[in-house]
Amino acid sequence: MNEKRICAEYLWLDGNEPPQIRSKMKVMEQPGGGTPLASPEWGFDGSSTNQASGADSDCVLKPVRTYQDPIRAGGKGGHRLVLNEVCLSNGNPHPSNTRAALSKVVERHADEGFWFGIEQEYTLFKDGRPLGFPAGGFPEPQGKYYCGVGADKAYGRELVERHLQACLDADVLIAGINGEVMPGQWEFQIGTGDPLRVADDLVVARWLLARLGEDYGISVSFEPKPLKGDWNGAGAHTNFSTAAMRESNAGFDAIIEKLRAHHAEHIGVYGPGIEERLTGKHETCSYREFRAGVSDRGASVRIPWQVERDGRGYMEDRRPCANIDPYVVLERIIRTVSE
Ligand code: ADP
Ligand code: MN
Ligand code: MN
Ligand code: MN
Repeated sequence: MNEKRICAEYLWLDGNEPPQIRSKMKVMEQPGGGTPLASPEWGFDGSSTNQASGADSDCVLKPVRTYQDPIRAGGKGGHRLVLNEVCLSNGNPHPSNTRAALSKVVERHADEGFWFGIEQEYTLFKDGRPLGFPAGGFPEPQGKYYCGVGADKAYGRELVERHLQACLDADVLIAGINGEVMPGQWEFQIGTGDPLRVADDLVVARWLLARLGEDYGISVSFEPKPLKGDWNGAGAHTNFSTAAMRESNAGFDAIIEKLRAHHAEHIGVYGPGIEERLTGKHETCSYREFRAGVSDRGASVRIPWQVERDGRGYMEDRRPCANIDPYVVLERIIRTVSE
């Protein structure tokens, strides 16, 4: 038989707040030697994902980007990850389909050359507590864990490294990883790239991390403030630039004033629980204020020192939480900067 069978893992965002990633696998018949088959549309039961009522439960999965599956069969055999938009049976975007809205805005502003880079922080949990936390107690206070090395400072590195390799193998635009301030907390960066690519790759990178965590009995939390008290929260700092910003910082002040004017709308879509994270402590600016500054990690928006030195580059919006919907955040930033 001149045919092989490949596994396509279909990924999509559900209707929860914040959205969770769902996936299910479809076996496809792949003609041997021929060009790879396109992944077909598929469906799922929206009544189990907060996307439909039981009486009218069919939702449509529309493939939008395909990746090589870096996990199944050791990354061999041509298996795929297929990222989808969720649509209604009439073909229109489902109300939870925030990617469709971003696509429209991206199209409107295609000639401005938006680039993004997202720093995804997260916390690893096992047995109901963050990795590195002893049963019924606390580890040493924060200070030595950020970018630390050693079994008393870095918890979960095997998973973190496997995740990095999986992203590289899948051609996800991962840019780096680092240990974070709280034990069990880490970060990876996605970008720099165009808005849809970066948001899509972030979703796939989150899925890969959660999936690989299963192998270790470790779960991944994107909670903005996983632990109360004197422990850092988890953010998704969103770095952005336009072609003009990469030429000169002449327009930076005008952009900062627009971000200030729309501060409340941004806070409203920067992840549920943001008030607990943006307290004004732990390298944040209170959600009640808007402040911009060079090299200021207590600001809402930071201009990196090299950008100030070079007189061009990008800005870092430090407000978004780890649990953001990246499509919503990028859409909001593009509209504020350009409309
Ligand atoms: P931090 O010092 O805040 O921890 P990181 O090194 O973690 O910074 O992340 C910096 C981010 O900035 C990366 O995600 C990168 O993709 C992004 N970035 C760099 N240059 C640009 C640019 N010109 N436009 C948009 N994003 C950029
Ligand atoms: Mn970072
Ligand atoms: Mn960080
Ligand atoms: Mn940052």
